[in-house]
Amino acid sequence: LHFRALRVNEKEDGRFQRAIETMPISSLPPGELLIRVHYAALNYKDALSASGNKGVTRHYPHTPGIDAAGIVEESTHPEWKAGQAVIVTSYDLGMNTDGGFGEYIRVPAAWAVPLPAELSLKESMIIGTAGFTAALGLWKMERIGQQPDLGPLVVTGASGGVGSLAVGIMSKAGYEVIAISGKDSAHRYLTELGASRIEPRSYADDPSSRPLRKPLWAGGIDTVGGNTLATLLKSCDKEGSIATCGLVGSSNLALTVFPFILNGVNLLGIDSATIDYATRVDIWGKLSREWRIPKLEQIAREVSLEGLETEITHILAGKVQGRILVKHA
Ligand code: NDP
Repeated sequence: LHFRALRVNEKEDGRFQRAIETMPISSLPPGELLIRVHYAALNYKDALSASGNKGVTRHYPHTPGIDAAGIVEESTHPEWKAGQAVIVTSYDLGMNTDGGFGEYIRVPAAWAVPLPAELSLKESMIIGTAGFTAALGLWKMERIGQQPDLGPLVVTGASGGVGSLAVGIMSKAGYEVIAISGKDSAHRYLTELGASRIEPRSYADDPSSRPLRKPLWAGGIDTVGGNTLATLLKSCDKEGSIATCGLVGSSNLALTVFPFILNGVNLLGIDSATIDYATRVDIWGKLSREWRIPKLEQIAREVSLEGLETEITHILAGKVQGRILVKHA
């Protein structure tokens, strides 16, 4: 049996080349579950893997795709049967294990979460790692006391994957949301997702060297890093939490200790790839019920394997709005 996949090859001159290839199922890595992938999604990290970023993917040739949802075709694990619907995100999928940009994946059973009854395979991939990451951020914030009556939450990179889902989830959870976006064209989109205010990137990018600013939000989630993350911390109200998950702007962080020791602000790290299984299942439950975004379909665009090429370039340039779904034939 053969299947199609978007393969990334490293050439002898050190350049990387992408092509859709037909591969035998036997080429997949070992694992208890063979899954026929119905939907995958494109994340920023996939674009890095697809362009030869060795911080994400050490060895090529490789099939990217950190998000996959489909039906179990073969199982050697007692708790899983052929025909079950499953979500696979995180762990090593799409990094150094062939991922969702192939029509089949083979993974350890421990990586699979049963598809919640309230979600379709397609909806689960509109949420995907982006929504899971945003939800994990809110879950951690609320665990240490964040609540809607403390004040608004800020979201940076708001029109991107994690950002869009964060705006939608936080608004659904009852928070006032300040969306920071560099895209003038995304205002209506962000308002429909539940943002109560939209501000330009400069609003969360303080050029001064002041250690603290007047409070502008009670917490937030940052996908940008660098001076944007520093600004979120400097402008956070007392005892609020800022969850950091991304680095689309910069991986640096320069600031003083004052937000922490004078305002009791919390900096929360988000690593969606390795969070424990019980939390993972709990968060997917929330995403399918109380944190479920109305009109999920409106934040996603569907492409085929062939259509991915253009989208990979777009996401690297920060131009993607919402989520890009990959529908396998
Ligand atoms: P997207 O490309 O979909 O979204 C990023 C958004 O950030 C863009 O749409 C844009 O939004 C904004 N942006 C882009 N470039 C810049 C820039 N130079 N300065 C300021 N803003 C910029 O990416 P994802 O949502 O998939 O991922 C976002 C980040 O989160 C990535 O760094 C990714 O690696 C990370 N991530 C981390 C996870 C974890 O577990 N820690 C899990 C998932 C993602 P706008 O135009 O609206 O400003």
